[in-house]
Amino acid sequence: MSDKPVFLYDTTLRDGTQGEGFQLSGLDKLRITERLDAFGIDYIEGGWPGSNPKDVVFFREAKNLHLKHAKLAAFGSTRRADVAVDSDAQVKLLLEAETPVVTIFGKSWEMQVIEILRTTVEENRAMIRDTVAWLVRHGREVVYDAEHFFDGYKDSPEHALATLEAAALGGAACLVLCDTNGGTLPSEIMQICNAVKTRLPGTPFGIHTHNDCELAVANAIAAVKAGATQVQGTVNGYGERTGNCNLTSVIPILQHKMGLAVVPHLEKLRDLSYFVDDVSNNPHFARAPFVGSTAFAHKGGMHVNAVRKLARSYEHIEPASVGNEQTILVSELSGQANILSKAEELGLPLAKGSPEASAVLKRVKQLEHDGYSFEAADGTLELLIRRELGNHQKPFDLTEYHTSFRQYRDGHPPVCEATVKLVVNGIPELTVAEGNGVLNALDLALRKALLPFYPSIAGVSLVDYKVRIIDGHDATAAKTRVLIVSTDGETIWATVGVSANIIEASWLALVDGIDLFLQRAKAQG
Ligand SMILES: [Zn+2]
Repeated sequence: MSDKPVFLYDTTLRDGTQGEGFQLSGLDKLRITERLDAFGIDYIEGGWPGSNPKDVVFFREAKNLHLKHAKLAAFGSTRRADVAVDSDAQVKLLLEAETPVVTIFGKSWEMQVIEILRTTVEENRAMIRDTVAWLVRHGREVVYDAEHFFDGYKDSPEHALATLEAAALGGAACLVLCDTNGGTLPSEIMQICNAVKTRLPGTPFGIHTHNDCELAVANAIAAVKAGATQVQGTVNGYGERTGNCNLTSVIPILQHKMGLAVVPHLEKLRDLSYFVDDVSNNPHFARAPFVGSTAFAHKGGMHVNAVRKLARSYEHIEPASVGNEQTILVSELSGQANILSKAEELGLPLAKGSPEASAVLKRVKQLEHDGYSFEAADGTLELLIRRELGNHQKPFDLTEYHTSFRQYRDGHPPVCEATVKLVVNGIPELTVAEGNGVLNALDLALRKALLPFYPSIAGVSLVDYKVRIIDGHDATAAKTRVLIVSTDGETIWATVGVSANIIEASWLALVDGIDLFLQRAKAQG
């Protein structure tokens, strides 16, 4: 273990997905894992292989991700009562996930041991100790989540502490105290953490909190003040009921307010927040602290200079430090930093202050105003930058396209038909294709038209298609935002289209996906 003051443990993929309206496909989970790793999260809990066959697949595929920093954790429970640990199928699946870290939870609350597990407190402790020890023997770093720890402690301190002791005896690397019901106050958290330290001096402990009293972040901070060295939470606070400890709030507090270096690039925080919203197809929360669009918004009305001076005195941190920005700025350069760093990431030579950079920024602002969001669709952003840099060759000129939908009476499945008319290198093409949906039909017709000119697009396929209706403001009509993820088998890229019409939005995202593939192929020669 390195000497980081506090380790960040993300459970967006497991506890987060317990939240209503927060669903992730296998591909979504892999994309989020890569992002969390790049951002500098230390532990990523991928799922519960014992309760969900989809998570078994996730762990198999996650092995190909080559994470740079984060350790993947599989999550599960202690062995069942009166069953030997090596014959408990659920525990064995935890090993089969082949993750460096395994997190298991056990019961801290005596009442639950008796009434829910229907076993004895001695057997409960043996279940915890045996399971931890067995996983440690098999080379795993074991994180022990003490479920209902604070409620259990309030009921019977001796029982709760003895369960922690059992996990420590088994060899757990970290004991994580969980406020599972989210009803504990920061003062209680501190007091109980101190009791744990007294009973188990020198044993690392962590904190897992829920937001039922809007105190999940405050409680995590209280625990860190009391010596916790691991903080568990989810991006944007997704999770069961009112959610988990919000990492997008707790991270900047640790780093800015407490001087604890927990991530290398805090300025990517807002991007991460938007990315997870977009991938899970959830709207952004405008008033989110640090990362929300209004987090540093000031109502002006005064002379711009005065507002700028005044605004600074109303901001508790520098917005750019979390990747956000003040929204009254009228400077041409506002927002350029984000785009420049994106261009650098993509290896595109966009210079600070250049006319190209201003043009890209202007275009991005216009598109964002129109409903575009680029955080989870940097393919479309890359095309935009390439166009401004003169680094883009239009693969075709569209003449027209047309779609229709046919519903049959005899039980035959409905069919969409698409016609695409375009010109490639001066040669007109007209193709027709049928598909099971609009996007599918358009995709097939477009490929048919382009394939003779660009045979390599045969290797490109669509892996994800997400549609979101964006609310219309100020009497403007609602719009549709379509996000498409494409792959050539080696890399994936995402593109976005926005229109009042779902077919047009789909077409725009689809064309960008193919276009970007062709531009990149050309750049590589
Ligand atoms: Zn939880």
